[in-house]
Amino acid sequence: MQKWLLNAMIEYNSASFQNSQSYPAVLHMPGEILDKILKWCFESLPDEILVGIDVNNKQKVNQQVNEAFRSMESRKDLFAGQDFVIGEAEIVNRGDSYSVHHLPEDWTDGIFTESRGARGGRFTHWLHTHPNAVAIPSHQDADAAQSTHGVDLILGVEFTPEGPLGWYDNVEGVRRPLGKNEHQEREDREPPRGAAGWRRKWWKKKNQRQVLGIAPTGHSIHGLELIAFHKSGVGVNVVLVDDEGMPYGWPFTK
Ligand SMILES: [Zn+2]
Repeated sequence: MQKWLLNAMIEYNSASFQNSQSYPAVLHMPGEILDKILKWCFESLPDEILVGIDVNNKQKVNQQVNEAFRSMESRKDLFAGQDFVIGEAEIVNRGDSYSVHHLPEDWTDGIFTESRGARGGRFTHWLHTHPNAVAIPSHQDADAAQSTHGVDLILGVEFTPEGPLGWYDNVEGVRRPLGKNEHQEREDREPPRGAAGWRRKWWKKKNQRQVLGIAPTGHSIHGLELIAFHKSGVGVNVVLVDDEGMPYGWPFTK
């Protein structure tokens, strides 16, 4: 696993821990699975992807960790698979935000004879990406989540060159960065007026966005965000765990 991701996961978990009172439940996601999903996400840019996720019925979540992340308002049976660590993920669709939530026919044909919503209800959890947009559910996302038994996750990815649609963050909601995102502090900074060419270049270099990595498509990755939510509309906390089911960066202190 790459060092930046390891560090990003430790920071993310620490924030999950500090904000644990804001969430009624916790989702335990292995870092390995996140790593895999990030790879698919980067390979597919600038498209959006939909990933189906199942839990490992043989791996219960670590109770010590669950206790540490438990909030006053915690709910035992909020979502399907709540007691189990995520076990596998599969990329099931790729496209734009209008088509990606509807599974292609070869996924739905014959298997889902009854109506179970656009996604066929095959997986416990679902994740989709938001290319160049914040990880906050849209109305369409809230609708699609109604047939999810587990939780819905959104992975926001900020990249350049951004294509016709620039970074979009004019949305209300709680942001959960994964990896430092200094974009907000920097977006309005322009080179000084009337600066000479060499000075503009120097300024731009000094104020350019951070780069977490380069995707196989050649896109520069500037920032990531990850959230989970339940169909009832409440947010679900996420903790990224290692092979033993322990959070990266454990233990945490308030
Ligand atoms: Zn969405």
